[in-house]
Amino acid sequence: MEEKPMVRLLVVESDVEANFFKGALEDNGINAMVKGLDGSAFGAALDGPDAIEVYVYSDDIEESKAIIMDLLDEDGDEIPAWTCACGEDVDEGFGVCWACGADYDASGSVESESE
Ligand SMILES: [Zn+2]
Repeated sequence: MEEKPMVRLLVVESDVEANFFKGALEDNGINAMVKGLDGSAFGAALDGPDAIEVYVYSDDIEESKAIIMDLLDEDGDEIPAWTCACGEDVDEGFGVCWACGADYDASGSVESESE
């Protein structure tokens, strides 16, 4: 059996986050592995846990990064109520139009923060 190389995707601070990302990746058909949870799963969070790392196969790293970026984007950036190109009003917090399935397009909004 050939062992595929795994690479570190990201480092998180809690097993909750780790499992959240792992779940999101697996929803997208990507095998993810969490390292750093071994030992005391219950006590680790109490006194500055060691880094918890999420690993994926190197084949999947690019796709994984894209998925994580998406998640982080939605997390850190509240989506305001917006009007879709199809004319439907979409409530805040929803990144996808419920009527036509179009993605929220931040570049189309008035705010333009450049990095
Ligand atoms: Zn729409």
